[in-house]
Amino acid sequence: QAPLAHANFTNMTTSSLLEEATFISKQFDVSKDQLIAISNEFIRLTDLGLKSDGMPMAMIPSFVTGVPNGTEKGTFLAVDLGGTNFRVCSIHLNGDGTFDLLQTKSVIPRSLMVGTSKELFSFLAKRVDEFIKTHLDEKFNEEGGHSDNEHIYKLGFTFSFPVNQTAINSGTLLRWTKGFDVADAVGKDVCRLLQDELDLLNLPVHVAALVNDTVGTLMSRSYSSPGEAATLVGVILGTGTNGAYAESLAAVDKLDQSVAALANKSIMVINTEWGSFDNDMKVLPTTSWDDAVDLDTPNPGYQMFEKRVSGMFLGEILRRILLELNEKGHLFSKASTPLTTAWSLDTSILSRVEADTTPDLVAVKSIVETDLGLPTTLVERQAIKVIVEGVGKRSALLAGAVVGGILVHTKACQSNPVVDIGVDGSVFEFYPGYEDLMREALKDVIGENEKKVRIVSQYLSVASSASLPADYQSRIVGRD
Ligand code: BGC
Ligand code: MG
Repeated sequence: QAPLAHANFTNMTTSSLLEEATFISKQFDVSKDQLIAISNEFIRLTDLGLKSDGMPMAMIPSFVTGVPNGTEKGTFLAVDLGGTNFRVCSIHLNGDGTFDLLQTKSVIPRSLMVGTSKELFSFLAKRVDEFIKTHLDEKFNEEGGHSDNEHIYKLGFTFSFPVNQTAINSGTLLRWTKGFDVADAVGKDVCRLLQDELDLLNLPVHVAALVNDTVGTLMSRSYSSPGEAATLVGVILGTGTNGAYAESLAAVDKLDQSVAALANKSIMVINTEWGSFDNDMKVLPTTSWDDAVDLDTPNPGYQMFEKRVSGMFLGEILRRILLELNEKGHLFSKASTPLTTAWSLDTSILSRVEADTTPDLVAVKSIVETDLGLPTTLVERQAIKVIVEGVGKRSALLAGAVVGGILVHTKACQSNPVVDIGVDGSVFEFYPGYEDLMREALKDVIGENEKKVRIVSQYLSVASSASLPADYQSRIVGRD
Protein backbone atom coordinates (compact mmCIF):
# COMPACT_ATOMS: atom_id res chain seq x y z
CA GLN A 1 0.00 0.00 0.00
CA ALA A 2 1.56 3.30 -1.06
CA PRO A 3 1.49 6.20 1.42
CA LEU A 4 -1.59 8.36 0.96
CA ALA A 5 0.27 11.53 0.00
CA HIS A 6 2.22 9.73 -2.69
CA ALA A 7 -0.92 8.06 -4.03
CA ASN A 8 -2.64 11.42 -4.31
CA PHE A 9 0.30 12.95 -6.07
CA THR A 10 0.44 10.08 -8.55
CA ASN A 11 -3.28 10.30 -9.17
CA MET A 12 -3.04 13.98 -9.81
CA THR A 13 -0.31 13.74 -12.43
CA THR A 14 -1.97 10.72 -13.90
CA SER A 15 -5.27 12.38 -14.34
CA SER A 16 -3.92 15.69 -15.56
CA LEU A 17 -1.81 14.21 -18.35
CA LEU A 18 -4.58 11.81 -19.32
CA GLU A 19 -7.14 14.60 -19.11
CA GLU A 20 -5.00 16.76 -21.32
CA ALA A 21 -4.56 13.91 -23.80
CA THR A 22 -8.30 13.30 -23.82
CA PHE A 23 -8.91 17.00 -24.38
CA ILE A 24 -6.50 16.94 -27.35
CA SER A 25 -8.02 13.75 -28.72
CA LYS A 26 -11.51 15.27 -28.56
CA GLN A 27 -10.40 18.01 -30.92
CA PHE A 28 -10.22 15.27 -33.54
CA ASP A 29 -13.83 14.17 -32.98
CA VAL A 30 -16.15 14.44 -35.97
CA SER A 31 -19.90 14.35 -35.26
CA LYS A 32 -22.54 12.64 -37.33
CA ASP A 33 -23.82 16.04 -38.49
CA GLN A 34 -20.34 17.03 -39.61
CA LEU A 35 -19.91 13.76 -41.50
CA ILE A 36 -23.19 14.35 -43.30
CA ALA A 37 -22.19 17.92 -44.13
CA ILE A 38 -18.86 16.61 -45.45
CA SER A 39 -20.53 14.06 -47.68
CA ASN A 40 -23.02 16.66 -48.98
CA GLU A 41 -20.23 19.06 -49.85
CA PHE A 42 -18.39 16.19 -51.52
CA ILE A 43 -21.43 15.48 -53.70
CA ARG A 44 -21.68 19.17 -54.61
CA LEU A 45 -18.03 19.32 -55.65
CA THR A 46 -18.42 16.05 -57.55
CA ASP A 47 -21.13 17.62 -59.69
CA LEU A 48 -19.10 20.78 -60.23
CA GLY A 49 -16.00 18.82 -61.21
CA LEU A 50 -17.89 16.72 -63.76
CA LYS A 51 -19.18 19.89 -65.45
CA SER A 52 -16.03 21.92 -65.94
CA ASP A 53 -12.25 21.71 -65.94
CA GLY A 54 -10.13 23.42 -63.31
CA MET A 55 -12.57 22.81 -60.46
CA PRO A 56 -11.42 22.44 -56.84
CA MET A 57 -11.97 18.69 -56.94
CA ALA A 58 -10.53 17.76 -60.31
CA MET A 59 -12.77 14.74 -61.22
CA ILE A 60 -10.36 13.61 -63.94
CA PRO A 61 -11.64 11.36 -66.75
CA SER A 62 -9.26 8.37 -66.90
CA PHE A 63 -10.16 7.32 -70.45
CA VAL A 64 -10.78 3.89 -68.98
CA THR A 65 -14.20 3.07 -70.41
CA GLY A 66 -14.73 -0.41 -69.06
CA VAL A 67 -13.69 -2.54 -66.11
CA PRO A 68 -12.20 -6.03 -66.45
CA ASN A 69 -14.25 -9.12 -65.68
CA GLY A 70 -11.45 -11.60 -65.04
CA THR A 71 -11.34 -13.17 -68.50
CA GLU A 72 -8.55 -10.91 -69.72
CA LYS A 73 -5.29 -12.62 -70.67
CA GLY A 74 -1.75 -11.64 -71.50
CA THR A 75 1.61 -10.62 -70.10
CA PHE A 76 2.43 -7.00 -69.42
CA LEU A 77 5.02 -4.85 -67.78
CA ALA A 78 3.85 -2.41 -65.17
CA VAL A 79 5.55 0.29 -63.17
CA ASP A 80 4.11 2.12 -60.20
CA LEU A 81 5.40 5.45 -58.96
CA GLY A 82 3.75 5.92 -55.57
CA GLY A 83 4.43 8.32 -52.74
CA THR A 84 7.23 6.26 -51.24
CA ASN A 85 8.21 3.42 -53.54
CA PHE A 86 8.78 2.65 -57.17
CA ARG A 87 7.75 -0.80 -58.34
CA VAL A 88 8.46 -2.65 -61.53
CA CYS A 89 6.52 -5.81 -62.26
CA SER A 90 5.64 -8.21 -64.96
CA ILE A 91 2.15 -9.51 -64.66
CA HIS A 92 0.59 -12.45 -66.35
CA LEU A 93 -3.21 -12.51 -66.40
CA ASN A 94 -4.42 -16.10 -66.51
CA GLY A 95 -7.90 -15.23 -67.72
CA ASP A 96 -9.69 -16.75 -64.73
CA GLY A 97 -9.41 -13.92 -62.25
CA THR A 98 -5.96 -15.02 -61.12
CA PHE A 99 -2.60 -13.65 -62.10
CA ASP A 100 1.11 -14.24 -61.63
CA LEU A 101 3.16 -11.32 -60.58
CA LEU A 102 6.88 -10.74 -60.42
CA GLN A 103 7.73 -7.56 -58.62
CA THR A 104 10.67 -5.50 -57.43
CA LYS A 105 10.43 -2.47 -55.25
CA SER A 106 12.82 0.39 -54.64
CA VAL A 107 12.50 3.24 -52.22
CA ILE A 108 12.54 6.56 -54.06
CA PRO A 109 15.50 8.56 -52.73
CA ARG A 110 14.34 11.78 -51.06
CA SER A 111 16.67 13.86 -53.28
CA LEU A 112 14.86 12.65 -56.40
CA MET A 113 11.50 13.77 -55.01
CA VAL A 114 12.64 17.37 -55.08
CA GLY A 115 15.15 17.35 -57.94
CA THR A 116 14.69 17.57 -61.72
CA SER A 117 12.38 15.52 -63.93
CA LYS A 118 15.42 14.22 -65.81
CA GLU A 119 16.90 12.79 -62.60
CA LEU A 120 13.63 11.25 -61.48
CA PHE A 121 12.59 9.67 -64.76
CA SER A 122 16.05 8.40 -65.63
CA PHE A 123 16.11 6.68 -62.22
CA LEU A 124 12.78 5.03 -63.09
CA ALA A 125 14.02 3.91 -66.52
CA LYS A 126 17.14 2.39 -64.97
CA ARG A 127 15.01 0.30 -62.61
CA VAL A 128 13.01 -0.96 -65.61
CA ASP A 129 16.26 -1.82 -67.38
CA GLU A 130 17.48 -3.81 -64.35
CA PHE A 131 14.17 -5.61 -64.06
CA ILE A 132 14.18 -6.67 -67.69
CA LYS A 133 17.81 -7.81 -67.52
CA THR A 134 17.31 -9.74 -64.29
CA HIS A 135 13.91 -11.29 -64.83
CA LEU A 136 12.87 -11.21 -68.43
CA ASP A 137 15.81 -11.13 -70.82
CA GLU A 138 16.76 -14.75 -70.46
CA LYS A 139 13.25 -15.88 -71.20
CA PHE A 140 12.82 -13.65 -74.19
CA ASN A 141 16.30 -14.35 -75.52
CA GLU A 142 15.39 -18.02 -75.56
CA GLU A 143 12.37 -17.07 -77.58
CA GLY A 144 14.59 -14.93 -79.81
CA GLY A 145 13.04 -11.71 -78.56
CA HIS A 146 14.40 -8.75 -76.66
CA SER A 147 18.03 -8.76 -77.87
CA ASP A 148 17.08 -7.94 -81.44
CA ASN A 149 14.12 -5.78 -80.39
CA GLU A 150 11.54 -8.09 -81.87
CA HIS A 151 9.61 -8.19 -78.69
CA ILE A 152 8.18 -4.90 -77.55
CA TYR A 153 6.87 -4.94 -74.01
CA LYS A 154 3.68 -3.02 -73.41
CA LEU A 155 4.02 -1.11 -70.21
CA GLY A 156 1.29 0.23 -67.95
CA PHE A 157 2.32 3.25 -65.92
CA THR A 158 0.62 3.69 -62.56
CA PHE A 159 1.30 7.25 -61.56
CA SER A 160 -0.01 8.30 -58.16
CA PHE A 161 -0.26 12.03 -58.72
CA PRO A 162 -2.85 14.29 -60.37
CA VAL A 163 -2.56 14.23 -64.14
CA ASN A 164 -4.83 15.94 -66.61
CA GLN A 165 -5.43 12.93 -68.76
CA THR A 166 -6.00 13.51 -72.48
CA ALA A 167 -5.96 9.88 -73.66
CA ILE A 168 -5.32 6.47 -72.17
CA ASN A 169 -1.59 6.92 -72.77
CA SER A 170 -0.97 10.59 -72.19
CA GLY A 171 -1.55 13.23 -69.60
CA THR A 172 0.11 16.32 -68.21
CA LEU A 173 1.07 16.65 -64.57
CA LEU A 174 -1.23 19.09 -62.78
CA ARG A 175 0.75 19.39 -59.55
CA TRP A 176 2.79 17.27 -57.18
CA THR A 177 1.50 16.00 -53.84
CA LYS A 178 2.85 14.00 -50.87
CA GLY A 179 6.05 16.04 -50.54
CA PHE A 180 7.20 15.65 -54.16
CA ASP A 181 8.30 18.90 -55.74
CA VAL A 182 9.93 18.36 -59.14
CA ALA A 183 9.00 21.75 -60.53
CA ASP A 184 10.02 21.30 -64.17
CA ALA A 185 7.75 18.26 -64.58
CA VAL A 186 4.55 20.21 -63.94
CA GLY A 187 2.63 20.69 -67.18
CA LYS A 188 4.59 17.95 -68.98
CA ASP A 189 3.32 14.63 -70.31
CA VAL A 190 4.56 12.07 -67.80
CA CYS A 191 4.28 9.21 -70.33
CA ARG A 192 6.57 11.12 -72.66
CA LEU A 193 9.07 11.80 -69.86
CA LEU A 194 9.23 8.09 -69.07
CA GLN A 195 9.28 6.97 -72.72
CA ASP A 196 12.17 9.33 -73.54
CA GLU A 197 14.30 7.90 -70.73
CA LEU A 198 13.44 4.31 -71.70
CA ASP A 199 14.40 5.10 -75.28
CA LEU A 200 17.73 6.55 -74.19
CA LEU A 201 18.51 3.13 -72.71
CA ASN A 202 17.33 1.43 -75.90
CA LEU A 203 14.73 -0.58 -74.03
CA PRO A 204 12.10 -2.40 -76.10
CA VAL A 205 9.29 -0.93 -74.04
CA HIS A 206 6.26 1.06 -75.11
CA VAL A 207 4.37 3.07 -72.50
CA ALA A 208 0.88 2.02 -73.50
CA ALA A 209 -1.32 3.16 -70.64
CA LEU A 210 -1.25 5.70 -67.86
CA VAL A 211 -3.46 5.16 -64.84
CA ASN A 212 -3.83 6.73 -61.46
CA ASP A 213 -3.29 4.23 -58.62
CA THR A 214 -6.96 4.46 -57.61
CA VAL A 215 -8.01 3.51 -61.15
CA GLY A 216 -5.53 0.62 -61.07
CA THR A 217 -6.94 -0.52 -57.73
CA LEU A 218 -10.49 -0.43 -59.08
CA MET A 219 -9.46 -2.45 -62.12
CA SER A 220 -7.41 -5.06 -60.30
CA ARG A 221 -10.21 -5.62 -57.81
CA SER A 222 -12.64 -5.92 -60.70
CA TYR A 223 -10.40 -8.46 -62.44
CA SER A 224 -10.11 -10.55 -59.27
CA SER A 225 -13.85 -10.82 -58.57
CA PRO A 226 -15.28 -12.37 -61.72
CA GLY A 227 -18.94 -13.26 -61.57
CA GLU A 228 -19.42 -11.29 -58.42
CA ALA A 229 -20.62 -7.78 -57.82
CA ALA A 230 -19.14 -5.16 -60.10
CA THR A 231 -16.40 -3.16 -58.46
CA LEU A 232 -17.51 0.43 -58.58
CA VAL A 233 -14.98 2.24 -56.44
CA GLY A 234 -11.18 2.08 -56.00
CA VAL A 235 -9.64 3.73 -52.95
CA ILE A 236 -6.10 4.43 -51.80
CA LEU A 237 -5.44 5.03 -48.11
CA GLY A 238 -1.66 5.01 -47.92
CA THR A 239 1.01 7.70 -48.06
CA GLY A 240 -1.67 9.75 -49.85
CA THR A 241 -5.38 9.22 -50.33
CA ASN A 242 -7.71 9.30 -53.30
CA GLY A 243 -10.67 7.53 -54.88
CA ALA A 244 -11.89 6.58 -58.36
CA TYR A 245 -15.28 5.27 -59.42
CA ALA A 246 -17.25 4.19 -62.46
CA GLU A 247 -19.37 7.11 -63.71
CA SER A 248 -21.91 7.06 -66.46
CA LEU A 249 -20.18 8.58 -69.46
CA ALA A 250 -23.16 10.82 -70.25
CA ALA A 251 -22.77 12.46 -66.83
CA VAL A 252 -19.25 13.67 -67.63
CA ASP A 253 -20.44 16.98 -69.09
CA LYS A 254 -16.98 18.42 -69.52
CA LEU A 255 -15.88 15.67 -71.94
CA ASP A 256 -16.40 16.04 -75.65
CA GLN A 257 -18.59 12.98 -76.06
CA SER A 258 -18.27 12.96 -79.84
CA VAL A 259 -14.62 11.82 -79.99
CA ALA A 260 -14.04 8.45 -81.64
CA ALA A 261 -12.49 6.86 -78.55
CA LEU A 262 -15.79 7.24 -76.73
CA ALA A 263 -18.12 5.86 -79.39
CA ASN A 264 -20.46 3.17 -77.98
CA LYS A 265 -19.03 3.51 -74.49
CA SER A 266 -21.29 3.88 -71.49
CA ILE A 267 -18.99 4.38 -68.53
CA MET A 268 -15.90 6.35 -67.71
CA VAL A 269 -13.77 5.75 -64.65
CA ILE A 270 -13.25 9.07 -62.89
CA ASN A 271 -10.24 9.87 -60.74
CA THR A 272 -11.79 12.21 -58.18
CA GLU A 273 -8.51 13.53 -56.69
CA TRP A 274 -10.38 13.78 -53.41
CA GLY A 275 -7.11 14.65 -51.66
CA SER A 276 -7.99 18.21 -52.64
CA PHE A 277 -11.59 17.91 -51.49
CA ASP A 278 -12.59 21.08 -49.59
CA ASN A 279 -9.31 22.96 -49.88
CA ASP A 280 -11.53 25.93 -48.92
CA MET A 281 -12.06 24.30 -45.52
CA LYS A 282 -15.82 24.83 -45.56
CA VAL A 283 -16.63 21.55 -43.86
CA LEU A 284 -13.38 19.81 -42.93
CA PRO A 285 -12.39 19.80 -39.26
CA THR A 286 -9.10 21.35 -38.28
CA THR A 287 -6.79 21.79 -35.29
CA SER A 288 -3.76 23.97 -34.62
CA TRP A 289 -1.54 20.95 -35.40
CA ASP A 290 -3.19 20.40 -38.79
CA ASP A 291 -2.62 24.04 -39.63
CA ALA A 292 1.05 23.83 -38.65
CA VAL A 293 1.59 20.65 -40.69
CA ASP A 294 0.00 22.24 -43.75
CA LEU A 295 2.29 25.27 -43.54
CA ASP A 296 5.32 22.98 -43.48
CA THR A 297 4.50 21.32 -46.84
CA PRO A 298 5.51 22.43 -50.36
CA ASN A 299 1.79 22.88 -51.15
CA PRO A 300 0.08 24.77 -48.31
CA GLY A 301 -3.66 25.16 -48.82
CA TYR A 302 -3.83 22.14 -51.16
CA GLN A 303 -4.67 18.49 -50.46
CA MET A 304 -6.43 19.59 -47.28
CA PHE A 305 -8.48 16.38 -47.10
CA GLU A 306 -5.39 14.24 -47.70
CA LYS A 307 -3.50 16.09 -44.98
CA ARG A 308 -6.11 14.94 -42.44
CA VAL A 309 -6.42 11.37 -43.67
CA SER A 310 -3.30 9.82 -45.18
CA GLY A 311 -0.23 8.21 -43.68
CA MET A 312 2.28 10.81 -44.71
CA PHE A 313 0.58 13.39 -42.51
CA LEU A 314 -0.76 11.41 -39.54
CA GLY A 315 2.72 10.72 -38.14
CA GLU A 316 3.64 14.39 -38.42
CA ILE A 317 0.41 15.54 -36.74
CA LEU A 318 1.17 13.16 -33.88
CA ARG A 319 4.78 14.32 -33.61
CA ARG A 320 3.69 17.94 -33.31
CA ILE A 321 1.24 17.14 -30.54
CA LEU A 322 3.82 15.14 -28.60
CA LEU A 323 6.41 17.88 -29.06
CA GLU A 324 4.00 20.51 -27.75
CA LEU A 325 3.26 18.43 -24.66
CA ASN A 326 6.98 17.92 -24.16
CA GLU A 327 7.73 21.63 -24.47
CA LYS A 328 5.09 22.35 -21.82
CA GLY A 329 6.89 19.90 -19.55
CA HIS A 330 3.92 17.51 -19.51
CA LEU A 331 5.34 14.59 -21.48
CA PHE A 332 8.71 12.77 -21.56
CA SER A 333 11.58 13.55 -19.22
CA LYS A 334 13.60 14.98 -22.11
CA ALA A 335 13.42 15.75 -25.82
CA SER A 336 15.06 13.81 -28.66
CA THR A 337 16.10 14.46 -32.23
CA PRO A 338 13.21 12.52 -33.82
CA LEU A 339 10.76 14.37 -31.57
CA THR A 340 12.03 17.78 -32.63
CA THR A 341 12.61 16.95 -36.32
CA ALA A 342 9.76 17.57 -38.76
CA TRP A 343 8.53 14.56 -40.74
CA SER A 344 10.76 12.18 -38.79
CA LEU A 345 8.02 9.84 -37.55
CA ASP A 346 7.35 6.79 -39.62
CA THR A 347 3.81 6.74 -40.93
CA SER A 348 3.28 3.33 -39.37
CA ILE A 349 3.68 4.58 -35.80
CA LEU A 350 -0.06 5.15 -35.32
CA SER A 351 -0.97 1.65 -36.49
CA ARG A 352 1.60 0.08 -34.22
CA VAL A 353 0.53 2.09 -31.17
CA GLU A 354 -3.14 1.37 -31.84
CA ALA A 355 -2.39 -2.35 -32.17
CA ASP A 356 -1.04 -2.60 -28.62
CA THR A 357 -3.82 -3.83 -26.34
CA THR A 358 -1.64 -5.01 -23.47
CA PRO A 359 -2.48 -3.45 -20.08
CA ASP A 360 1.05 -2.07 -19.70
CA LEU A 361 1.31 -0.98 -23.32
CA VAL A 362 4.60 -2.82 -23.71
CA ALA A 363 4.65 -2.42 -27.48
CA VAL A 364 4.10 1.32 -27.20
CA LYS A 365 7.03 1.39 -24.77
CA SER A 366 9.39 -0.13 -27.31
CA ILE A 367 7.95 1.87 -30.22
CA VAL A 368 8.60 5.15 -28.42
CA GLU A 369 12.02 3.92 -27.34
CA THR A 370 12.95 2.91 -30.88
CA ASP A 371 11.26 5.60 -32.98
CA LEU A 372 11.65 8.54 -30.62
CA GLY A 373 14.57 7.38 -28.52
CA LEU A 374 12.65 8.14 -25.32
CA PRO A 375 11.75 6.23 -22.16
CA THR A 376 8.12 6.41 -21.03
CA THR A 377 5.98 5.91 -17.98
CA LEU A 378 2.74 3.96 -18.24
CA VAL A 379 0.69 7.13 -17.98
CA GLU A 380 2.65 8.69 -20.80
CA ARG A 381 2.00 5.65 -22.95
CA GLN A 382 -1.71 5.78 -22.13
CA ALA A 383 -1.77 9.44 -23.07
CA ILE A 384 -0.03 8.73 -26.39
CA LYS A 385 -2.52 5.99 -27.16
CA VAL A 386 -5.50 8.25 -26.45
CA ILE A 387 -4.09 10.87 -28.83
CA VAL A 388 -3.30 8.32 -31.54
CA GLU A 389 -6.87 7.03 -31.33
CA GLY A 390 -8.26 10.51 -31.91
CA VAL A 391 -6.05 11.19 -34.93
CA GLY A 392 -6.58 7.72 -36.44
CA LYS A 393 -10.33 7.69 -35.92
CA ARG A 394 -10.79 11.06 -37.58
CA SER A 395 -8.89 9.78 -40.62
CA ALA A 396 -11.15 6.74 -40.97
CA LEU A 397 -14.38 8.68 -40.41
CA LEU A 398 -13.44 11.25 -43.06
CA ALA A 399 -12.57 8.47 -45.50
CA GLY A 400 -15.91 6.77 -44.82
CA ALA A 401 -17.80 10.02 -45.35
CA VAL A 402 -16.42 10.61 -48.84
CA VAL A 403 -16.90 6.98 -49.89
CA GLY A 404 -20.49 7.48 -48.72
CA GLY A 405 -20.66 10.62 -50.86
CA ILE A 406 -19.70 8.61 -53.97
CA LEU A 407 -22.33 5.98 -53.20
CA VAL A 408 -25.04 8.60 -52.74
CA HIS A 409 -23.99 10.36 -55.95
CA THR A 410 -23.93 7.19 -58.07
CA LYS A 411 -27.00 5.64 -56.36
CA ALA A 412 -24.90 2.45 -56.47
CA CYS A 413 -26.70 0.87 -53.51
CA GLN A 414 -30.08 1.46 -55.15
CA SER A 415 -29.15 -0.46 -58.28
CA ASN A 416 -26.86 -3.22 -56.94
CA PRO A 417 -27.37 -5.92 -54.33
CA VAL A 418 -23.69 -5.69 -53.39
CA VAL A 419 -21.36 -2.78 -53.98
CA ASP A 420 -17.72 -3.74 -54.15
CA ILE A 421 -14.96 -1.36 -53.15
CA GLY A 422 -11.27 -2.20 -53.69
CA VAL A 423 -8.89 -0.52 -51.26
CA ASP A 424 -5.12 -0.41 -51.17
CA GLY A 425 -2.61 1.34 -48.96
CA SER A 426 -0.82 0.95 -45.66
CA VAL A 427 -3.19 3.02 -43.54
CA PHE A 428 -6.20 0.89 -44.43
CA GLU A 429 -4.15 -2.25 -44.27
CA PHE A 430 -2.39 -1.81 -40.97
CA TYR A 431 -4.44 0.55 -38.79
CA PRO A 432 -6.44 -1.75 -36.50
CA GLY A 433 -10.19 -1.26 -36.83
CA TYR A 434 -9.91 1.20 -39.71
CA GLU A 435 -12.60 -0.46 -41.80
CA ASP A 436 -15.03 -0.58 -38.86
CA LEU A 437 -14.53 3.12 -38.27
CA MET A 438 -15.03 3.87 -41.97
CA ARG A 439 -18.27 1.90 -41.76
CA GLU A 440 -19.46 4.01 -38.82
CA ALA A 441 -19.26 7.06 -41.05
CA LEU A 442 -20.78 5.16 -43.98
CA LYS A 443 -23.80 4.31 -41.81
CA ASP A 444 -24.20 7.96 -40.89
CA VAL A 445 -24.24 8.87 -44.58
CA ILE A 446 -26.07 5.99 -46.31
CA GLY A 447 -27.86 4.30 -43.40
CA GLU A 448 -28.87 0.66 -43.77
CA ASN A 449 -27.34 0.46 -47.25
CA GLU A 450 -23.97 0.27 -45.54
CA LYS A 451 -24.64 -3.48 -45.23
CA LYS A 452 -24.49 -3.81 -49.02
CA VAL A 453 -21.00 -2.41 -49.18
CA ARG A 454 -18.15 -4.88 -49.45
CA ILE A 455 -14.75 -3.37 -48.78
CA VAL A 456 -11.91 -5.54 -50.01
CA SER A 457 -8.23 -5.00 -49.47
CA GLN A 458 -6.20 -5.29 -52.66
CA TYR A 459 -3.07 -5.51 -50.63
CA LEU A 460 -4.05 -8.95 -49.39
CA SER A 461 -5.19 -10.20 -52.76
CA VAL A 462 -1.84 -9.38 -54.30
CA ALA A 463 0.29 -10.50 -51.36
CA SER A 464 -1.48 -13.85 -51.19
CA SER A 465 -1.44 -14.49 -54.91
CA ALA A 466 -0.79 -18.24 -54.75
CA SER A 467 1.80 -18.36 -57.49
CA LEU A 468 3.88 -15.56 -56.12
CA PRO A 469 7.46 -16.71 -55.42
CA ALA A 470 8.27 -16.53 -51.69
CA ASP A 471 11.04 -14.08 -52.43
CA TYR A 472 8.57 -11.63 -53.89
CA GLN A 473 5.95 -12.19 -51.25
CA SER A 474 8.40 -11.02 -48.68
CA ARG A 475 9.08 -7.88 -50.66
CA ILE A 476 5.49 -6.76 -50.68
CA VAL A 477 5.38 -4.64 -47.58
CA GLY A 478 3.74 -1.26 -47.34
CA ARG A 479 2.30 -1.17 -50.82
CA ASP A 480 2.08 2.59 -51.31
C1 BGC B 1 -2.52 12.01 -55.41
C2 BGC B 1 -3.43 11.01 -56.10
C3 BGC B 1 -3.13 9.61 -55.64
C4 BGC B 1 -3.16 9.54 -54.13
C5 BGC B 1 -2.88 8.15 -53.58
C6 BGC B 1 -2.55 11.79 -53.91
O1 BGC B 1 -1.59 12.61 -53.28
O2 BGC B 1 -2.93 13.32 -55.68
O3 BGC B 1 -3.28 11.11 -57.50
O4 BGC B 1 -4.08 8.74 -56.18
O5 BGC B 1 -2.23 10.44 -53.57
O6 BGC B 1 -1.62 7.69 -53.97
MG1 MG C 1 0.63 3.07 -54.33
